[in-house]
Amino acid sequence: MSDIILEARNLTKSFGGFVAVNDVNLRIERGSIHAIIGPNGAGKTTMFNLLTKFHTPTSGSIRFNDTDITNRKPAEIANMGIVRSFQISAVFPHLTALENVRLALQRGLGVSYHFWRSQKMLSDLDAQAVARLDQVGLKSYAHTRAVELPYGRKRALEIATTLGLEPELMLLDEPTQGMGTEDVGAVTELISRVREGRTIVMVEHNLGVVAELADTITVLARGEVLAEGPYSEVSRNPQVMEAYMGV
Ligand code: ADP
Repeated sequence: MSDIILEARNLTKSFGGFVAVNDVNLRIERGSIHAIIGPNGAGKTTMFNLLTKFHTPTSGSIRFNDTDITNRKPAEIANMGIVRSFQISAVFPHLTALENVRLALQRGLGVSYHFWRSQKMLSDLDAQAVARLDQVGLKSYAHTRAVELPYGRKRALEIATTLGLEPELMLLDEPTQGMGTEDVGAVTELISRVREGRTIVMVEHNLGVVAELADTITVLARGEVLAEGPYSEVSRNPQVMEAYMGV
């Protein structure tokens, strides 16, 4: 299998006459954390929506594991192992943390609820769900309804439900948005814990988080790739400083 899990070639997205993403090439290495950053209006959200097939590109193509997914629907690519979280939350507010993760596991298995009516299977599923909660530090919140969880814990639950779908490629849209320092630290730590065995692409504003987590960073500006590389490189690039940091 190729080292490149996801590849966008000459991706362009126009809205009317306005080009939001302009001829972008992106190669995501298997097993890496790849961050997409850039100033407001750079095209990050549009790029994210293209990669997760919520937008159809005006031109260009996207390949996942050497399969062309340019014309696949979001549900199809989810079944192939690309799971997006946060913007369209998979968390049901009035279900408990445990129920939410159990539901995600069932969806991941693609098996109807009725199949799980046998007690043995249900308890197996519960054990797996508890393990997922434990992995994200939520075991003691298993019976708390999602709506009652503190904000940072809700994000942890979203990650647990995303993991329930067993993604090969996880796409995170601003995982630390709106968080205080403590929650940012907790989510950063959580992402570094769950990265094993998968690839993560994230759009993230917080440069501290990007510096800590990302192996590769793509900097977008005005819909185009301005720079790409590890944090140590792109953070010293004068063009990036000018466009992104306003220096
Ligand atoms: P970012 O996420 O980097 O802030 P976006 O991808 O949201 O940037 O937006 C890039 C540009 O594309 C912006 O100028 C925005 O106004 C424009 N844009 C985004 N979505 C639409 C849309 N649905 N229709 C028209 N213009 C859009």
